[in-house]
This record gives sequence, structure tokens and C-alpha cells, in this order.
Amino acid sequence: MIDNIDIDKIRSEFPILKELIYKKPLVYFDNGATTQKPQCVLDRINYGYEHLNANIHRGVHYLSQKATEAHENARKTIADFLGAEKREEIVFTRGTTEAINLVAFSYGEAFCHEGDEVILSVMEHHSNIVPWQMLCERKKMTLRVVPMNENAELDMDAYKNLLNDKTKIVSITHVSNVLGTVNPVKEMISLAHARHIPVLIDGAQAVPHIAVNVQDLDADFYVFSGHKIYAPTGIGVLYGKEKWLNAIPPYQGGGEMIAQVSFEKTTYNELPYKFEAGTPDYIGSTALAEAVNYVQQIGIENIAAYEHALTTYATKRLLEIEQMRIVGTAAYKGAVISFLIGSIHPYDLGMLLDKLGIAVRTGHHCAQPLIDSLGLPGTVRASFGIYNTKAEVDIFIDALKRVVIMLS
Ligand code: PLP
Repeated sequence: MIDNIDIDKIRSEFPILKELIYKKPLVYFDNGATTQKPQCVLDRINYGYEHLNANIHRGVHYLSQKATEAHENARKTIADFLGAEKREEIVFTRGTTEAINLVAFSYGEAFCHEGDEVILSVMEHHSNIVPWQMLCERKKMTLRVVPMNENAELDMDAYKNLLNDKTKIVSITHVSNVLGTVNPVKEMISLAHARHIPVLIDGAQAVPHIAVNVQDLDADFYVFSGHKIYAPTGIGVLYGKEKWLNAIPPYQGGGEMIAQVSFEKTTYNELPYKFEAGTPDYIGSTALAEAVNYVQQIGIENIAAYEHALTTYATKRLLEIEQMRIVGTAAYKGAVISFLIGSIHPYDLGMLLDKLGIAVRTGHHCAQPLIDSLGLPGTVRASFGIYNTKAEVDIFIDALKRVVIMLS
């Protein structure tokens, strides 16, 4: 047991960790991109198809009712996990990207007009930039960008100055997928609310790693992806305060989201179904709830402490390497380390590490404006999950030292 974490047991629950990559044990440090899945999640997917598969919400028959019950129980699990007041405030989406597109479109339709402004930060993922840019183009609005200081922390004075009567929404990442910075989102929300401006928080890199309570944050919208928290791809979550979800129009039309349809007029379903057009991913939702239960059994506070210790250890060991440059040195960081070594191209480092069985990410990490603003060619990113260990960090550092010699 390390920091209340039974790491051997956890590792034994992830079948993929037994894979050999080029005949070497897999060291998977690409958790920021997606996480591996524990056996209980894999079993839940199979169980769904083997025992509970029928389209939900519409059927009077046994299987349909059971599948509906499982899907709606999953919604309740997610609502409790995020600290939402009501299960109706949880909308299932395909992931973070779809959730942000939904809000950018629907909120934009209802509340945004020519001349209005949207505030983002310089460290946003493309999925929290492009949907807002599309809204700005559609409505002739302007994007405003919060800069950061040399420690990769958002410039809060600049943020305060950007908030004004034209600001219609603020959309900020909770944790940067490149820099690891944990942003002061509670304070940012409170500053926006003082001007009655709603705030969306991109929780893709936060929810798997730190405790999140949407009511405590007072977030208006909070979004995340299942696949980054040990659940399957294709399922994610939009939390929205009931008042906002009621105030904005549907995003997509189709089955499920309607109350009555005629060729003259359609009326929409109640929350959350108004935003869930078509057959929902009811297998994915139940597998996501299984993953969330798995995380809660380990304890999100235990996970946060364990990953913090691991990230601190990895940072210290990385700094043993000459010409190491850690990109992102905020005081409060998540389980992400971006770095560069001398003038070696990140892609070369990543390619050679791969040959040694180590999976890291290289490039702009879907945050091109951030990487451009730093004048970098990209970075190498190691991002940790609950099954990673200090022993793996040691393998990684030894491999890096070998690779640097080869590339120098
Ligand atoms: N936001 C952040 C901060 C991310 O790290 C990612 C994925 O890496 C996304 C959004 C997009 O997530 P998805 O591709 O699952 O929609």
C-alpha cells in the first residue's frame, strides 16, 4: 500500500498492462489522451450486451425497462459524483468536445448577439476554442483570451480586466492538458458571476484526478469525457444548471428529444432528454458509471495524493537530465508533465521512447495557440493515471537518458 493505494491490486485490474510492446513491458504515460480500462468496466460493457440490451425509454418490454433503469441509474451516479443538485442536470454526450459544441451552439443561439464577447484562456484545448470561434463567426462576436505568466498560471488581473458588459460567457479549462496547471476556477466563476456572466468549465483533465463538486464551484456548465476516466470512448457528460438547460434550445433534433411532433410544430421533451436526440449510448453510460464507482472505491482524494506524489517524483527525476526544460511550472499542478531536452525535437524523443515500450505524447497536444505562444515546436508529455508507479518512472528516466545520448 502506498498512500492508501493498493497499487499491485489496481495494476492487476487493467488487463492491457500485461501487454508487451516490442517485447518490453508497457509503460503507459499517455493518460491525458486516454486511459486504459479496468476489468470491471470491460465486464460491464459485455454484461450490457449479453443481458440488458434493448433500446431504452420506449419499450414496454422487460429488457427495455431494465436497460432504461440502468441508464438512468448511471445518470444518478454521475450526478452524485459531480455533486449536482439534480439528475436532470446531467446530459450524456459523446465527450467533452460534443458537450462544449452543444453549449456554444445552444447558449449562443439564445443569448449571444453581434458585438458580444466570449472569454477563453490561452491554455485551452482546441475543443474549447473552435466551437466558440464558430459561434463568433456566426454571430459576429469577439473572442477574448486570458494570458498567463511565466509559471504558466493564468493572469488573474488580465482576466478581471477582460470581464465587461459585452462578455456573454467564460469558458475555461480546469486543468491544462499541456502544462498541468490547475486553474483557480472557483475564483474565476465568482468574478464572472459578480457580473451575471455564466461560466463553462472544461473538466476533461480534472475529473479523473481531483475531487470536483459543481455546486461548490458554482459552475454553470461543467463537461468531461468518459474515456479519460477509465470508461469507454464515445460517452461523456455535460452538467448544466437546470435554469440554463431550460433556457437554451435543443442542439440536435430527432427521436427522444421531442414531446410531440407534427409537420406544423414540434414540442420538446423535458430535461435532460431535450438534449439527447437519438438512441443514447446506454451501454457507454452504464460503463461510465462503473468506472466512476471504481474511482470512488479507490477514493478520488487518494488518487489525487498518489498521483501528486508520482508527478513530483517524476519531475525531480526528469530534472537530473541535462538541458531539461519543464514546460509548465505552476504551483498547483495535475498529473501532467510537458518537457523538452535541449534542441532535440519532441517527435524524435517520442519515437525512440516508443521503441523502448514507453508511450508518451508528442506535439502540440491539440493546444496549438498555447504552443505557438510559447514559441515551441511542441513538447513531450508524460501524463499519469492511477496504475502508474515510481518504478515505471525510473524505467522512463533510464530510457530517456539512453535516448538523449543517441540523439545528441
Ligand atoms: N479538453 C481538454 C482539456 C482535453 O485534454 C481534451 C482531450 O485531450 C479535450 C478537451 C477533448 O476531449 P474529447 O476528445 O474526449 O472530446
